[in-house]
Amino acid sequence: MMDFPLTLDVILRRAVATHGQREVVTKRDDGTWHRYTYADMERRARQLAVALQKLGIEPGDRVATICWNHYAHLEAYFAIPCSGAVLHTINPRLHEDDLVYVMNEAEDRIVIVDQTMYAVLEKVLDRVSLEHIIVFSAEGNVPEGTLDYDTLVEGTDAQDYEFPEMEERQAAAMCYTSGTTGRPKGVLYSHRSIVLHTFGSSLSSAMSVQESDSILPVVPMFHVNAWGLPYTCAMLGAKLVFPGRHLDSESLLDAFEREKVTVSAGVPTIWIPLLDKLNECPDQYDLSALHTLIVGGSAAPKRLMTELEDRHNIRLLHAWGMTETTPLGTVATLRPCHAKLSEDQQHAVRLRQGHAVPFVEIRARGDEGIVPWNGKTMGELEVRGPWIAGSYYKRPDAAEQFTDDGWFRTGDIVTIDASGSMKIEDRSKDLIKSGGEWISSIDLENTLMSHPAVAEAAVIAIPHVKWTERPLAVVVTREGNHVSEAELKEYLLPLVAKWWIPDAFEFVEAIPKTATGKFKKLALREQFAGKS
Ligand code: ADP
Repeated sequence: MMDFPLTLDVILRRAVATHGQREVVTKRDDGTWHRYTYADMERRARQLAVALQKLGIEPGDRVATICWNHYAHLEAYFAIPCSGAVLHTINPRLHEDDLVYVMNEAEDRIVIVDQTMYAVLEKVLDRVSLEHIIVFSAEGNVPEGTLDYDTLVEGTDAQDYEFPEMEERQAAAMCYTSGTTGRPKGVLYSHRSIVLHTFGSSLSSAMSVQESDSILPVVPMFHVNAWGLPYTCAMLGAKLVFPGRHLDSESLLDAFEREKVTVSAGVPTIWIPLLDKLNECPDQYDLSALHTLIVGGSAAPKRLMTELEDRHNIRLLHAWGMTETTPLGTVATLRPCHAKLSEDQQHAVRLRQGHAVPFVEIRARGDEGIVPWNGKTMGELEVRGPWIAGSYYKRPDAAEQFTDDGWFRTGDIVTIDASGSMKIEDRSKDLIKSGGEWISSIDLENTLMSHPAVAEAAVIAIPHVKWTERPLAVVVTREGNHVSEAELKEYLLPLVAKWWIPDAFEFVEAIPKTATGKFKKLALREQFAGKS
């Protein structure tokens, strides 16, 4: 067989040759829409590659982006890796010190930044060493000393430019974990790992991306390659719809209707308010094209699945992944072995994190070694596969996150059932140890969030003299609703073990969230530290 490299330029060539006229549309900052095709995108990606080279970028150099989801970011997604450099997508919601840390560790030479996010960069400029700043702006009046993205791209002749030949194992992109568990750690993706992830995630037993789809990634392109969707869509010719910075429920619903979106992907904190909006005015939007919302990043609450499906005929597809897993690791689809289950049991199957996608292997390790796949014994999830990180960037001190036989230790505490379906019980540091037994904060949160008056609930451990730790629930009530602690305890009684019921409830206006929209339990633990 040919030794044919698995590199991203092959995806780009295919996007033009086979799907050149398929559309990429973006909602601009001012609410108007930008439309062009994959063929247009490829032309501008080549222009950007040449422009970056003229600015001194060489193979292996890191070029950063601080951008929302839009067409210029897609151009960077291809131009940078296909010219041999490394795309470093930066999460603008990182703490300033972390931002400085990741830019310096990655040694970013150039950054492409949205004008609307320039203020984020400006605050740290004197602490990083960038050679050029390229600003993507609607108006073109970019800050002094910076380059205008469009002028740079359109002013560059790339007619005869061809992307260089590359090794499939060379670095294509990098992304830092959002620091939920300490200082951000960098993960370097190779061309090969992204290409294989693109194949794996488009399978019908995974995200099932079709050419006929119109896909809107809400999940940001600055975090784990927007779950790989930009590459998957380009390879398969699915229409890409970018929301820009318009991520509120109304804007998303409007975009779904207008662009006949069939599939969208985001975290639960995006879909929960969107469901509420839909419940409020079910007939306001024509969503007849929309068939699937992919959810991941945190566990999907049951109500989200049942109400989206029963009331609005939209399927919720639950998936699990991490920065370290590119990200797709497992997906919860129904399989032939589930065909005879009741609807309720099928929901339970689909609310698990699911089975590993082909070529990802999973196992869980407890105190006594690898745990049996019996759906009961908890252990820390370990994974391996061609798109799973084998180490962290420049962090030999983080070697303990890899086992001696080369598996990645995820920090997620899970059970795996006999069919290979994985369920996250907790993150290791979030588990609540009460009287020698474990309480799953995730289960408690999701049960609480199924109460009609509860908008959000986070459960944390607080120290307890007798029981070591006990759960405390932090609750945000739905607008216009009231619910008391006693009512919530009563509600939980038939649904969870009695000793799981939180001793204390705190009602708050909002739960602090991490840069990727997850509950910031560290902050909650600090806030309620005195409650023991
Ligand atoms: P971090 O939050 O450390 O930046 P990631 O954004 O990569 O890391 O998130 C990975 C973590 O998110 C997983 O280890 C897991 O705890 C959680 N997670 C991801 N998907 C799901 C899911 N479907 N259900 C529950 N937890 C999830």
